[in-house]
Amino acid sequence: MSSESRPSTGSGRPERVEGRGLLFVVSAPSGTGKTTLVDRLVRQTPRLKMSRSYTSRAARQGETDGVDYNFVTRDRFEAMAAAGEFLEWADVFGNLYGTSAVDTERVLESGSDVVLVIDVCGARQVRHRGVETIAIFVMPPSFEVLERRLRGRSKDSEAAIQQRLRVACQEVAAFAEYDFLVVNDEVTAASDRLRSIVLAERARLTCMRPSAERIVRTFS
Ligand code: 5GP
Repeated sequence: MSSESRPSTGSGRPERVEGRGLLFVVSAPSGTGKTTLVDRLVRQTPRLKMSRSYTSRAARQGETDGVDYNFVTRDRFEAMAAAGEFLEWADVFGNLYGTSAVDTERVLESGSDVVLVIDVCGARQVRHRGVETIAIFVMPPSFEVLERRLRGRSKDSEAAIQQRLRVACQEVAAFAEYDFLVVNDEVTAASDRLRSIVLAERARLTCMRPSAERIVRTFS
């Protein structure tokens, strides 16, 4: 939902719609470890759901349709995109990935928060639609560490590693488009920082005002 028509708090931020979840966006260059961080975050945080994207890429070994992704054909993906079914979508390394608008809305309406793990282009689309998000960029501690991690995964060819590093150079330059930054230097510390962002956002006056007003009424 766009924030234009809603009253704001003293901080100038629009009031949240009561009972509606928050939309978190997490982006990071491939190999930064964002999936591990977000998996931990979702496991440790009640009322926070990871969005399940649609993709035209083939399932990797160990991946399950409807769990890791909704795997669809390229034709089906393009038909969904043409029908406006995606909140955002992008071509990432030659495959199409997208977030279902209806699925996301359903979870937000139910009162749970949603985290989208999407690339920088997708994050821009969500923002340009005027959808309120809390955008978090996860960075590796350095180029060298990212390169070492990508090689350590040993699931990509040298050409694919070089392509991921090239894209990473463009993506890290976009960090200033985000609200928060987490450097993934050590997984426990980084996931604690990620979780602290979610908890702090939930504690904002824009979210807490209805609860606070209910408490204040018990005093009168
Ligand atoms: P992988 O193929 O390794 O699972 O994912 C490749 C990249 O696609 C990830 O870096 C991730 O950020 C991005 N991605 C996954 N799902 C989506 C999506 O729904 N939208 C966009 N824009 N990017 C996505």
